[in-house]
Amino acid sequence: MASGSCACHYVRYTTTSVPSAPVNCHCTTCRKQAGAPYQTWAFFPATHVQWQVYPTGRRSSTSATRSFCPRCGSTLSMILDRYPEEIALAAGTLDEGEGPIPLPRAHIFLKEKASWYEVPEGDGAEKYQEWEE
Ligand SMILES: [Zn+2]
Ligand SMILES: [Zn+2]
Repeated sequence: MASGSCACHYVRYTTTSVPSAPVNCHCTTCRKQAGAPYQTWAFFPATHVQWQVYPTGRRSSTSATRSFCPRCGSTLSMILDRYPEEIALAAGTLDEGEGPIPLPRAHIFLKEKASWYEVPEGDGAEKYQEWEE
């Protein structure tokens, strides 16, 4: 079980399962969208996420749809076309105190990593130039 919201709390969600270990995506789209070196995504079965208020969808590439809060612009989610049964929630939107959130398991799309960011050694996460799963 987990819950979360955007920065202004207009968009809120709850989940019926606990988050799996998230991934840090360093792809250019995630970096730009996050305004940060990478975006951390926590994956859930799509049917396990209930939105109290829906975020606004945006086609972010030929292979994925992302969503954001229409009021504050926070990134909320991403669904890959090839895995429609799974939803990635922006891990930073998860509320603290709802139960343990695992540490990230992987850094992905490091081939697009920001030149000014160094992935810390020994953080326990696998490193991938791309990502297939
Ligand atoms: Zn908001
Ligand atoms: Zn990405």
